[in-house]
Amino acid sequence: MSHSLYGTLITPAGAVQGNLVFGQTIHSITTTSKTGPLILPGFIDTHVHGGGGGDTMDGAKGVRTLAKYHLQHGSTTLFPTTITNPWDNIISALLGVREVMREADPQLASIPGAHLEGPFISAKRLGAQPPQTQVPEADKLEELLELDVIRLVTLAPEIPQALPAARKFAKAGVRVSIGHSAASLETVQKLMQAVKAKGGVVGFTHLYNAMGVLSGREPGIIGAALSAPESFAEIILDLHHVHPTSFLAALAAKPDHLHLITDGIRACGMVTGQTELGGQTVTVKNGTARLADGTLAGSLLSLDQALKNAAALGLSIEQASQLLSAVPASYMGLKDRGMLAVGKRADLVVIDKDLSVLKVYVAGRRVNF
Ligand SMILES: [Zn+2]
Repeated sequence: MSHSLYGTLITPAGAVQGNLVFGQTIHSITTTSKTGPLILPGFIDTHVHGGGGGDTMDGAKGVRTLAKYHLQHGSTTLFPTTITNPWDNIISALLGVREVMREADPQLASIPGAHLEGPFISAKRLGAQPPQTQVPEADKLEELLELDVIRLVTLAPEIPQALPAARKFAKAGVRVSIGHSAASLETVQKLMQAVKAKGGVVGFTHLYNAMGVLSGREPGIIGAALSAPESFAEIILDLHHVHPTSFLAALAAKPDHLHLITDGIRACGMVTGQTELGGQTVTVKNGTARLADGTLAGSLLSLDQALKNAAALGLSIEQASQLLSAVPASYMGLKDRGMLAVGKRADLVVIDKDLSVLKVYVAGRRVNF
């Protein structure tokens, strides 16, 4: 069955007033004189712990809940993200992600795999991760890779055995994202080279957060990220985690390799109250989620709001759309999606003039909400 939609299509060649014909994939794009809403490629979130009351650590039920919540906000592809926890909790969360992946429910966001954030991070840059970091020992890695569910791992380059772990992940096609780290520039660059030597792809986990600072004499992790144009970087554009100017500076350095994430937690959708993250109490107030000591604990962001924030900072819709779709697709090697082009998956977000989501399609199927 084929459907059609018309409006302002955000294509790789720019905005086109056009008619989009699609089934599971896009069949044709033709120009039309009819005006309609904005139509963007579906958003891709590589870093999302939870939403709508569900969390990846809850297992399959939590994954379904968060995938449904974020899909309504335009995330047609997402990577449920774990948190530092006792080993068995992490494994059972990953099994939950795998279960939902295998169900391939057409009413849910597409889930190509999980993002393992922690436990292979530095105790010095926990951010809101619980203090239960671990070393990526060979047997642990083997257990993880055997599950065949992780597509992205956050790794601190300075922890013991980080280098052999990075090589193994890279060899297995898992993206290695540097983050929750206090490593020196040299240590970071050594890991980047090791990943590249294995044919891997390097990213940076929520750029600027939980990675120290950039200064004139000490470039640190941020300097490493901004000076390596081929590396990708996630950024949380909720206007709480990162100053707008820091975001624009990163965008100037990495115009084709910076992408927006939510880092959303189960409290996404909640206005005020108490919730939890990784077993810790979190208070939701004034648009932020924080631990008792005031540390930001993930975000309440959804990617449609990130689009609005990007537009408010002066980005064109075309540019903001790239940061939400084409860049993360390229990062994760998802060649079948990320842009409005013939042959690509019909993952679509229909948006009105005030940038609110009107309709969402996953592989050509309209999502009910
Ligand atoms: Zn984090």
